[in-house]
Amino acid sequence: MGQTLNARVAVYTGTFDPVHHGHFDIIKRGSRLYDRLIVGVGINTDKTTMFSLEDRVELLCDVAKPFPNVEVRSFEGLAVRFVRESGARIILRGLRTLSDMEYEFTMSLMNLHLDPEIETVFLMATEEYSHVSSSLLRQIAVLGGDLTKFLPHQVKDALMEKVKKQ
Ligand code: ADP
Repeated sequence: MGQTLNARVAVYTGTFDPVHHGHFDIIKRGSRLYDRLIVGVGINTDKTTMFSLEDRVELLCDVAKPFPNVEVRSFEGLAVRFVRESGARIILRGLRTLSDMEYEFTMSLMNLHLDPEIETVFLMATEEYSHVSSSLLRQIAVLGGDLTKFLPHQVKDALMEKVKKQ
């Protein structure tokens, strides 16, 4: 510890496999709330992802381009450690449903135990995207459904390409 953490800097953590409009909405709102927003793309050894880490970061960089105070970085290991190393005081997360709530509540309490100086802040999903998740979109893509409403165009193209190759 011993390092000063900035409460005006937040880290929005996630897997982003791939980034969708629900994530974009949190990035947009987070970028207005904080001086700097770091999107932290986690390397999760428990989760197999459809998109490689490089692809997820690249798509996020593209999508976050309109926001000059947003940067995208990947991290391995504990989120609180990455947040501290970034000099940030805030973990930003989105909340969609009651089931999200249970998981996020547990995670935020554990993170508070791991590093009491770092707080988790939640933004409620907008109604429009509260039912949208990366896993559901991946399933719909495999089944040939239209994803235009839920994905930025470059992400939709990348997802269709992935599905075609599988
Ligand atoms: P995880 O970090 O659990 O692997 P994701 O990468 O899918 O999950 O999402 C990262 C963060 O974005 C989480 O806080 C999640 O609750 C939030 N999120 C996911 N989908 C939406 C959505 N449609 N609207 C708002 N927030 C969302």
